[in-house]
Formats: sequence, C-alpha cells, structure tokens
Amino acid sequence: MLKIYGEIFVHKDKIISGIFISLVLILFLLFMTHKTPEKRYVLLSFDVEPVDGELAVMDVLDVIYRTNTSATFFVTGEYAAEYPHMVKLMSGREIASHGYTHRKLTELDKISIEGELKSTRQLLKDLSGQEIIGFRAPYNIIDRRTLDILDDAGYSYDASMIGSWGFLYPEVPTTLGEIPVSSIFGIPLEDVVWLYYLRSPALYFSILKGKETEIESFLFHPHHIAQHKHQFEEFINYLKGHDVIFISHRGLTELDHGGL
Ligand SMILES: [Zn+2]
Repeated sequence: MLKIYGEIFVHKDKIISGIFISLVLILFLLFMTHKTPEKRYVLLSFDVEPVDGELAVMDVLDVIYRTNTSATFFVTGEYAAEYPHMVKLMSGREIASHGYTHRKLTELDKISIEGELKSTRQLLKDLSGQEIIGFRAPYNIIDRRTLDILDDAGYSYDASMIGSWGFLYPEVPTTLGEIPVSSIFGIPLEDVVWLYYLRSPALYFSILKGKETEIESFLFHPHHIAQHKHQFEEFINYLKGHDVIFISHRGLTELDHGGL
C-alpha cells in the first residue's frame, strides 16, 4: 500500500510540477509579447439623450471641466431642442451627432435618415458654434446606407462600431474614418453593460484603468456615470498619473495615424 501511495504521490507531484512550469512559461511569453505602447490615447465619449436630463450632464461636465479632460459629446437632436442651454455648456468640448430621434436608422428609409442627420447637424452647429464632423448611430447599429450618407455629407468619422464586432458591420467608405468603441473579450466597454446590466462599477473602472493598447475609446451615458461620479473622477485622475493622453474623437482624426 505504501508503495502505491508513494507512486501516486510521485505522479501527482509530476503533474503539479508540469502545471507550474507551464504557467511560468505562459506568464513569461505574455510578459515578452506584451508591449506598453509609447503613447496611449484615451477617448471618452458620452451619448446624450433626453433621459440624461440636466443634472446628470452637469455632473459629468463638472468632472470633465475641473480635471481639464478632453471628451466628445454625441448629442441627439431631441436633447438639443429640449435643452439648448446644456449643449452650449458642453460646447467647451467636441460636440458630435447621435441622430435626431434615437430611432434605429436601419429601419428608416434614405430620406428619413438624411432628414435625421441634417436637422441634428444644423441644430448642434447653431448651438455650439462648431462644425459637426462626427456621428454615432443610436444603439450602435449602422448600415452602409448611413455610412454613405455621412461620407457624402462630408463627415470626418463614424464612431458607431464595437471593436471586435467587425463581422456585424459593413465596410466603411475609405474617405470616412471609423473610431470603434473598445471592447474586452468581445464585451463593449460601455457603461450600459457594466454599470446597468452587470452592476459592477469597481470591475468596470479597473478594466478601464488597465487597458493598455495605443487607442482606447470608452462610451458612457451621463445618467449612468453620474451615479458613480467619484469613481469616474478617480479613474480619470489615475490615468492622468500614468501619462495617458486624453483626446477627443476630432483630435484623433487630426493626428496622422495612417488609418483608424
Ligand atoms: Zn444612444
């Protein structure tokens, strides 16, 4: 019996040693292949819709302006019509279009899509004094028709797509840039998923802090972020302490990155 136990013990020991050596090798390979990029750009964007109201947007602006951080606000025409003074308050940062009524554009005909985009763009321009060059589709759902309309209208970029979900989206016209929302293991790094459905603010902000690729684009909604205002500000200050460059979507398109 002793011999058997002895053999089993030796066998187990070999397995444990094998697993340990494999883990060390995997960690070593990960360490050798992981490269922290020289520059890390982080894009903060907020989709602003009537549900966000005034107070939540004020909370976000308070953090963004106090910490002197770049950001982009994708605003719907409906929000701008209801809260024109809020668009003026946001206009210290980039203003971009999120459509007028927040309907799924894939369910609209071409004339309706053009109407949504044109009216929103003009309203946002009048209120902010900015040329509106960026667009994000409601629900991140976009088809080639809308991309072509954006391209023909002279937009510089679309920001509707979810990184790593490329197979769901049409090809982007070559003259229009695409700035996708970052994801991790295919899960979009947008607050609705992590703060509303998963209710995991600590995990969410620690993932946002730890993402270390060259360009990261995070999507927020003021009414979700305002509930975690202090963690949001702490996350921004953490990245500022780690040499991250916050940049607007417009700013990124003006950098020479050779394609986004
Ligand atoms: Zn939206």
